[in-house]
Order: sequence, then C-alpha cells, then structure tokens
Amino acid sequence: VILPLMGLGLAVYFYSAPENFNEEMLRGKRVIVTGASSGIGEQMAYHLARMGAHVLVTARTEAKLQKVVERCRELGAASARFVSGSMEDTAFAEEVVKEAENTWGGLDMLILNHIGHSYFNYFDGDVDHIRKLLETNFLSYVAMTVTALPMLKESEGNIVVVSSVAGKAPGPFAAPYSATKFALDGFFSSLRHEFIIENVNVSITLCILGYIDTDNAMQAVSHAIKVAPSPKEECALEIIRSGALRQHELHYPPGIVNGMLLLRGLAPGFLDTLIRSNIVRFGQP
Ligand code: NDP
Repeated sequence: VILPLMGLGLAVYFYSAPENFNEEMLRGKRVIVTGASSGIGEQMAYHLARMGAHVLVTARTEAKLQKVVERCRELGAASARFVSGSMEDTAFAEEVVKEAENTWGGLDMLILNHIGHSYFNYFDGDVDHIRKLLETNFLSYVAMTVTALPMLKESEGNIVVVSSVAGKAPGPFAAPYSATKFALDGFFSSLRHEFIIENVNVSITLCILGYIDTDNAMQAVSHAIKVAPSPKEECALEIIRSGALRQHELHYPPGIVNGMLLLRGLAPGFLDTLIRSNIVRFGQP
C-alpha cells in the first residue's frame, strides 16, 4: 500500500512544484533563522550563507551559535551574527526581531524553526509541560511574527513556519508536540487568509516535514520509527526554496508526506492504522 501511495504523492509534488527557484533570490536578503544551533536550522543558515544572505541565528547555546556564525562567514554570508536566549520567554522572542531591526533596519525573511524539548512516550498527564511547550513552540512564533510584521510588510517578505506531519496527521507518543504543531497550522493558515483578503503582500509558508536525520530526532525516535529518515541538508534547502517561492505549504519528503495527506482525506481510519503499524509500541508507562 505504501509504495503506490508514495508514487501518487510524488506525482502530486512534481505536478505542483514550481521550477523557477534561483539561489540569487536570497543574495543580500536579511534573514532570521531560529533554532539554528543544530539540525535543520543550522543547515538552513549554511545554505543562506552560501547564497550570500545576511543571517541572524538564534538558539540557547552560545558556543554552538558562535561556531555556526563562523562557518556562515566562511561560506560567504553577506553578514552573520547571533543572539542567544530561550524562546520560553516571549520578551526574548521580540528582542531577536528588534536586533534585526537595529542591525539591518529591515527584514526580508523570518524562519521560525526552534522547538523545546518534549518526550516521545505515552502522555503523562503533565499539563504544565504542555503550557511551557506551547510558549516555546507556538507563542514565541506568534510574538516574533507580530514584532516583525511592519518590517516584512515594508519588504514584501516571507514568514516560514517549520511544522511536522505530527501537525496534520498525528501519531501516538507525541501528544504535547503534536498539539503545538496543530496550533501553528491553525494560527498561520488563518493569518494567511487575512493577508490575502487585506492585500498584505507577506507570504506564509507552512513546512510539513516527515522524519529527518537530525541528531536530536534520531536520538529521540530512531528506536521506535520504522521509516528511514530524510537528509537534513536537502530538507533545509527545500524549506528556503519554498519560502522564497512564496508557496503556502511545503511537504517534505514529498512522496511520504503527500501520500499521507491524500490518505488522510480518502481513508483516515486506514491512515491511522498505517501510522500505528510504523511505530514500535512501548510497554505501559
Ligand atoms: P533540533 O533539536 O536539532 O534543533 C532544535 C533547535 O531549537 C536547536 O537549535 C536548539 O538549540 C533550539 N532550541 C531548543 N530549545 C530552545 C528554547 N527553549 N529556546 C530557543 N531555542 C531552543 O531540531 P530539528 O532540526 O530536528 O527540527 C527543526 C524543526 O523541524 C522543528 O520545528 C521540528 O519540529 C521540525 N521537524 C523535525 C523533524 C525531524 O525528524 N527532525 C520532523 C518533523 C518536523 P539550543 O538547544 O541551543 O537552544
């Protein structure tokens, strides 16, 4: 069942994929990347640097950010800097955007990518954990968007929101994480409607990602997920490409994600069974 579904998913992708991306589109652009000390965010910073963009990266770990900035400079970034802090604090989220305003006097692309730590297991009933995770994974995204919007309106720029299949077709053992990713879809897909109605020329790209081979994701779920992960470098490039092309959604890897989303509409019960059968069960908590 999975193979024909992936084939159909790939066909949808190639039918709908715009082809006019050019890396020059990013040259000289002023871009914020959150969660850029590791994983997909780090790879996005390197691609942007190679394309000649100005990059401002952020996360909590200053030592890692310093190294990312150094590498960005080596790769040819127009400029590279970092701000360190935790997105659990909305004031910090706003501070990052203000740093871009003070440094560049404007902003072209806001890439919202960071996530706080959660667990991969049965829901443990901890409501406070969900509240904190919503602060980090959702409310900070909203706060940064609000603060950046005047600059993005001015530049007719892009907002890129990194989400997950867990924010469209949830599986077990990730209830808090999944909730924060659904919140992103609800908020940003509604906001996109409003931008279109009001002729606000700021694009919003929601990235629906499958399993990607970042160190943290592999550590958290490789023992439990039967599907092979996709490469973070290619994933990072696809995110930048779809943001620059002002696509409403990116589905990556296209075969698996498009296949799952098609099946969600056609046979949701069957999709749920398929998802459970691709995840190794835990014992009772
Ligand atoms: P990583 O765990 O590799 O990176 C997470 C980043 O967020 C790090 O830079 C981390 O840096 C930062 N971060 C963590 N906590 C905080 C905090 N409280 N405040 C600010 N920054 C923080 O994640 P991935 O690269 O794997 O994932 C990136 C995005 O892709 C996420 O939105 C994720 O949901 C999505 N995604 C990933 C998938 C995968 O399989 N990898 C699958 C589907 C979606 P530091 O610790 O220094 O703060």
